[in-house]
Amino acid sequence: MRHFAVIGSGPAGFYTAEALLKAYGDQARIDILDRLPVPYGLIRFGVAPDHQSIKAVAKRYEKVALEEGARFLGNVHLGADVSIEEMLSLYDAVVLATGAPHDRRLGIPGDDLPGVLGSAAFVGWYNGHPDFADLDPPLDGAAAAIIGNGNVALDVARILSKTPAEFVGSDIVSHAFEALGQSAIRTISILGRRGPQQIAMTPKELGELGHLADAQPVVEPADLPPVDTDAALDPGQRKSVGHLRDFAAAADTAKPKRILFDFFARPLAVEGHGRAERLVVERTALQPDGTAEGTGETYLIPCSLVVSCIGYATPAIPGVPYDDRLGRFPNEGGRIADRLYAVGWARRGPTGTIGTNRPDGYEVAEQIAALFPADGADSGRRGGEGLDAILKLRGCDPVEFHDWQKIEAAEVAAARAGAPREKLVRVEQMLKVRHD
Ligand code: NAP
Repeated sequence: MRHFAVIGSGPAGFYTAEALLKAYGDQARIDILDRLPVPYGLIRFGVAPDHQSIKAVAKRYEKVALEEGARFLGNVHLGADVSIEEMLSLYDAVVLATGAPHDRRLGIPGDDLPGVLGSAAFVGWYNGHPDFADLDPPLDGAAAAIIGNGNVALDVARILSKTPAEFVGSDIVSHAFEALGQSAIRTISILGRRGPQQIAMTPKELGELGHLADAQPVVEPADLPPVDTDAALDPGQRKSVGHLRDFAAAADTAKPKRILFDFFARPLAVEGHGRAERLVVERTALQPDGTAEGTGETYLIPCSLVVSCIGYATPAIPGVPYDDRLGRFPNEGGRIADRLYAVGWARRGPTGTIGTNRPDGYEVAEQIAALFPADGADSGRRGGEGLDAILKLRGCDPVEFHDWQKIEAAEVAAARAGAPREKLVRVEQMLKVRHD
């Protein structure tokens, strides 16, 4: 029998577990750990609450968790409850699928003022992440600025713009639903340090902004490069830029909210007395090598909420090599060290779609299977039985998949009309439900 541990129960973790189960059949036991009592990581806490079709992939992960050889163990924190050295002594291989849940700092003066939030915090707040349930973002001002031109910036702009009716069918948590319903924000600026052809937004997600009940996306026609230069773009990017051209050409509507695309705009500082009041921005010019250079021309954007959507970092784990510059574990093809691997964003950094994690997990599972043939000699490691003993000794309270199913049932039962669930947002609540 082989024993493997996957740390993290988001997409990368579940695809790896799925691949290991396929490779080993009943010759392996796979423990999938998560520091939270609930599974699915990015699917639950990252994917926007109004993108339920994307979240449906959790059904596939559920199947994996219910397989004979797999076990979900939530509320177990690697590095706090159990060390990596202990895990490597218990399991034949350990795969880190810990994602990239930490915000990269903007690194400009004033980025620590109240009202300046990273997207992990803001997205975590509206998605019911226990770490951000008490965030209470300031929505009392008339304007917000979003920094970054990726899909997360789009998610944040859309969530700030939607009417309560547009959240029907979503699983946005009640605290965010109610706060957003009272929001005074009418102008949302999305700042990109480069231009329309350099955005990291995908067409489907960008197109959604054109169909909001109360908000109109606005693009300055002069920011758009000549139409014939779009021919050099890949088809997806051409489609995205096409949406921006449509926004630029659209007639002004009476919709009360504006989503302003501010291209060639680099934030220099956040200013304000005790809280964010305005953003100091420098106009940039695109260089032949595709980078943006400041032009020295500056201007102010009044805003009391700044959400930086500029990417994420993987948290370090004591005892595991870590690359501060890249914000993830250094690895070669997923291998960090002997019997220690990384998959997903912990391996590659925060890029790609949910599906990108699948080949990633399968590739690492193949490497593991080459090292430990399914019919090879038993390593004698104790696996989950040894982990259980350590956790018991330390007074930990692990949550298994059947416990999660109780939590899930409570969430479904508590759902607002038309919503699939009302997420529990506190770890204590989750643990209480499962003990009830
Ligand atoms: P992203 O796609 O890497 O975009 C990050 C953006 O931040 C880029 O526009 C980047 O500009 C900008 N940026 C980085 N550092 C900056 C700085 N210091 N100042 C100003 N701007 C800065 O990251 P993301 O939006 O966080 O998304 C992460 C991944 O999740 C992506 O692969 C994304 O497609 C995916 N995602 C998908 C969906 C969906 O499919 N519905 C939803 C959300 C996220 P430069 O290009 O100039 O570096």
